[in-house]
Amino acid sequence: MENVIAAAQAIYTDDQRMLLENFRKMAGAEFAPLTEKYEALGHPPDADTLKGLFAKVEEFGLISGLIPEEDGGAGMDRMSYGILYEELARIWPDLAIAVLIQGHAAFALSLLGSPEQKEIYLKPLLRSERIACTCISEPEVGSNVREVKCRGTREGEKIFISGQKLWISNGAQSDFAIVVCNLDGGISMVIVDRDAGKYESRELRKLGLVGASTCELFFDRAETTSDHVLGQPGSGLFQTLKLFESARVFVGLTSIGIGQAALECAVTYAKDRHQHGKPIAGHQLIQGYLADMATQLDAARLLCQRGLKLLDLGVRCDTQTSMAKWYATEMAVEITGKAVQIHGGNGITKEFPVERHFRNAKVMPIPDGTTEIQKLVIGRNLTGVGAF
Ligand SMILES: Cc1cc2nc3c(=O)[nH]c(=O)nc-3n(C[C@H](O)[C@H](O)[C@H](O)COP(=O)(O)OP(=O)(O)OC[C@H]3O[C@@H](n4cnc5c(N)ncnc54)[C@H](O)[C@@H]3O)c2cc1C
Repeated sequence: MENVIAAAQAIYTDDQRMLLENFRKMAGAEFAPLTEKYEALGHPPDADTLKGLFAKVEEFGLISGLIPEEDGGAGMDRMSYGILYEELARIWPDLAIAVLIQGHAAFALSLLGSPEQKEIYLKPLLRSERIACTCISEPEVGSNVREVKCRGTREGEKIFISGQKLWISNGAQSDFAIVVCNLDGGISMVIVDRDAGKYESRELRKLGLVGASTCELFFDRAETTSDHVLGQPGSGLFQTLKLFESARVFVGLTSIGIGQAALECAVTYAKDRHQHGKPIAGHQLIQGYLADMATQLDAARLLCQRGLKLLDLGVRCDTQTSMAKWYATEMAVEITGKAVQIHGGNGITKEFPVERHFRNAKVMPIPDGTTEIQKLVIGRNLTGVGAF
């Protein structure tokens, strides 16, 4: 299989291949044992441990990569960043999700923040001293992001945030939250410090990615001030949708990492397992599965990599990033399902990692816009007719 991977990676530059090789060595040694550990524990790392992990991936620019150098970032091109990100997701997708949230909170602060906000919030994120979460979804608000109910009330210079947020990644370990809420008759993004705002979090137990925090957050007149509004007041919805454009490609790449791990397990198992007098890899139907899996995975990867290039060009690409997100996440569900099938009975036991890959993959068609919503975005852009 190495020859197939090497041939596909011939489109990468020498620098990208070297970076990937070095990152793989570090991540394989440091993170692979932790994947197993947190899977067995069934909960995410605590805040201090997560900060240490962020500092480790930041040695390769995985927190600050999307931030320009003038804001203290590594200023990487998205293709190089995406190659490393996919590798992280192959080894430990739970950490990849946490990195995606931290990196995109930093990206939002770099894009929209005032000089003071960059000093107080962006720089500590880049130094892995603080952890951020981004709060859009609510109990009554999922796909219908326009209908957020969480509310900010001004009292002089102070703003009090009230409401409940749901499914918030990094919520448990967060030091501050970027909250999408109603303010002054429009939707705005407001930064709330955990110390000052005293918001509470409750971890949710879920099917897969159990090492990534997904929380309910409770804001009960959480206090913040007017200089904590991020970007243009009233532009919170537009800003959120713009950030989705980038985040969706990385959700796709998370799925590709999970799918790649499952494919590798399936190829190894098919060569080792003998039935009817030969390795099951020698049965045509099994080879057909493997060929489907490898092709679907590469097609998804190429869609995501095109998305990365379009984002770097700075052109509008919500159609292409929606294609990348729905296709990659749904293909990973199919690929990991076939990997379980190739393992037969062993595939559904905890003795082999494919059942974990399958559960992890099943999570990904939901966040950052479900598959149905991505298709509605594509359909609207094709026809000019909104269907949602
Ligand atoms: C692991 C994980 C991490 C997450 N992290 C965050 C986070 O950090 N911050 C955050 O704010 N949110 C986060 N989310 C929330 C996520 O963005 C929402 O779950 C998602 O937007 C879907 O919302 P919902 O779950 O309420 O489903 P709903 O919107 O209730 O949808 C239920 C079903 O109905 C379908 N549906 C809804 N509307 C339509 C329509 N018009 N046409 C056709 N079908 C439709 C959906 O596609 C879905 O199949 C996360 C979710 C997960 C699973």
